[in-house]
Amino acid sequence: MIKVTKFGGSSVANAKQFAKVKHIIDSDPSRKFIVTSACGKESHEDHKVTDLLYLIQAHIKYGVSYESLFDMIVKKYKSIQEELHLHVNLDEEFFRIRKIIQNDDSPDYLVSRGEYLTGKLLAEYLGAKFVDAADVIMFHYDGTIDMKRTSEKLMQYVQGSEKILIPGFYGATPNGTIKVMSRGGSDITGAVLANIVDADVYENWTDVSGFMVVDPRIIPNPISISRITYSELREMSYMGANVLHDDSVFPVREKNIPINIRNTNEPDHPGTMIMEDCSEMDKVDPPHAITGITGRKNYTVISLTKAHSSAEIGFLRKVLQIFEKYNVSIEAVPVTVDTYSIVVQTHLINHCLYEIIGELKETVHPEDIRVEDHQAMIAVVGREMKQRAGISGQLLSEFGRNKINIRTISQSSYELTIMIGVSDNDFEKSIKAIYEKFVAEEKKQ
Ligand code: ASP
Repeated sequence: MIKVTKFGGSSVANAKQFAKVKHIIDSDPSRKFIVTSACGKESHEDHKVTDLLYLIQAHIKYGVSYESLFDMIVKKYKSIQEELHLHVNLDEEFFRIRKIIQNDDSPDYLVSRGEYLTGKLLAEYLGAKFVDAADVIMFHYDGTIDMKRTSEKLMQYVQGSEKILIPGFYGATPNGTIKVMSRGGSDITGAVLANIVDADVYENWTDVSGFMVVDPRIIPNPISISRITYSELREMSYMGANVLHDDSVFPVREKNIPINIRNTNEPDHPGTMIMEDCSEMDKVDPPHAITGITGRKNYTVISLTKAHSSAEIGFLRKVLQIFEKYNVSIEAVPVTVDTYSIVVQTHLINHCLYEIIGELKETVHPEDIRVEDHQAMIAVVGREMKQRAGISGQLLSEFGRNKINIRTISQSSYELTIMIGVSDNDFEKSIKAIYEKFVAEEKKQ
């Protein structure tokens, strides 16, 4: 059994968190490959090291002194070192960083130092071999990861019996320059490593016990999701549920490696398993009708009505082309016989709404165009929905019972997600109603 074990920023925020990580690593010998983020916040008032590093970069750019910010970082790492009696030569490391950033215009080297320093300390503390990501995670010039070269480089390190630790979030371009990924990118480093070492599971340790069925800011202490498919996860993340970096799914999905989201502060909780196919486990332990409920506010819905348009070949294409011309991505297109609604995020269309309306009038000559702002889209996601008849019926009647007006409905024939549009004001109320009916009630039974 091989596990790749990635720890997020909150899991390595201070010496106490380091100790929890050590306990997790020591309790399972298959946790041989470790990836770490940079130290995160210890408390609400604290700052993530990566945020401080970006701030330092901005100070350098504008020629403002960054000493007090730098000192905050030095203090953080030194306190971890002292508390855990580690020997990494931090003075030397900070001396080198200061020297390099004087003459380096790109922020990448500087912001990657959070993961680098956290990795140095954690590797020593765990008794693992430190492997610098700049020596093994290889990028193409276009910024994508060169899996072939990364695999060749990594293979030199992964074959021995030693535990290895790689800092997340950065790697090197073909000319050896350090390059960082997008924010939260350590998840991607972990996923790439899992792919290359053919891990049995990719454990992603964070500060929540897996994915929640619903956002805890809307329903306090919701139940967590024990299993979810990659496709369900994709739908949930797209609509706003964020625990994992989006791009981290592809390297593990390619090799069918499950991702296990775990909580460093509650290590006995099994967390959430993300898999290609949950059907075998579902037979033993049937899932809820609904896996998760998520959504976002601030959509604009543009509805066009024209008699007989459903028989007019090319009507929808002409409409969509106008949105494409203005580079506005479309979220949903609920259709009835002669009415087409186009759902888009308001911030994407604000600057070109009048131009789009003008072109729609000119091109497809609708009898009526209606624009409604402050609309919310709710995604009800569940692999189980296609097995069970009547879910959408029950769902819609729940809205009726709670006197919530549904503005749009859409569902593809995969029946993985039902998207329901309501006004922004009804967003929280709708989510509570669905949770109550489909999750809380089922749990009681
Ligand atoms: N430290 C980086 C960030 O804060 C990357 C990561 O944590 O995955 O975005």
